[in-house]
Amino acid sequence: MDIKICCICHHAVEDNEGSKLTVKGCTGINDASMKRQDNVYAVPGNCFHIACRKTYTNANVIARDTKKKTLVQTPDL
Ligand SMILES: [Zn+2]
Repeated sequence: MDIKICCICHHAVEDNEGSKLTVKGCTGINDASMKRQDNVYAVPGNCFHIACRKTYTNANVIARDTKKKTLVQTPDL
């Protein structure tokens, strides 16, 4: 039995919390990765956490995360 690793967070995926990527699923993740200027690269057959993909590909979360990255030097007072 091999350990399945989430292609987004790189942690182990349990059978009940993840799934395998289809070609279409990869497109969504790689598109989000590009928008985030991230180095995540998904290929069909990769495993992922359903929760990770939901967050990772969510347009609102992407906007929030990319904004956070550019404002990293701002002190939060
Ligand atoms: Zn994950």
